Amino acid sequence: MTDCLFCRIVAGDIPSETVHETETTVAFKDINPAAPLHVLVVPRRHIDDAAAVAPEDGPVLADMLVAARAVAEAAGVAGPDRGYRLIFNVGPDAMNSVPHLHLHVLGGEPLKGHFAAA
Ligand code: AMP
Ligand code: ZN
Repeated sequence: MTDCLFCRIVAGDIPSETVHETETTVAFKDINPAAPLHVLVVPRRHIDDAAAVAPEDGPVLADMLVAARAVAEAAGVAGPDRGYRLIFNVGPDAMNSVPHLHLHVLGGEPLKGHFAAA
């Protein structure tokens, strides 16, 4: 999808600060970070959002979680005494703004509350 921002980032048409790549996923720094660590993990293949995920997307979802752990490990927050938060926003009430599935990886400091971004 050439008009999709994250498809264009995956294709390299729009620059991003990529921190991790696999055959099926790309992880890059969020342009407007809500925490010291704020990375977006996206599938290379376009999926609209978490509500559009189908059972056959299971493997790429697992790849995204494994990529998120690798991002957290590289940032030094994956140990048992640290941790990180993973968020999928769906729809306007959750303020989903980019219509290409992305997993927010947040951390690097004790996050405020159980459910907020930071
Ligand atoms: P969401 O609100 O869940 O749809 O998250 C979209 C995220 O994409 C926001 O946190 C934005 O800051 C981030 N974002 C938007 N444009 C870019 C970009 N060009 N590079 C990196 N992150 C971006
Ligand atoms: Zn896309």
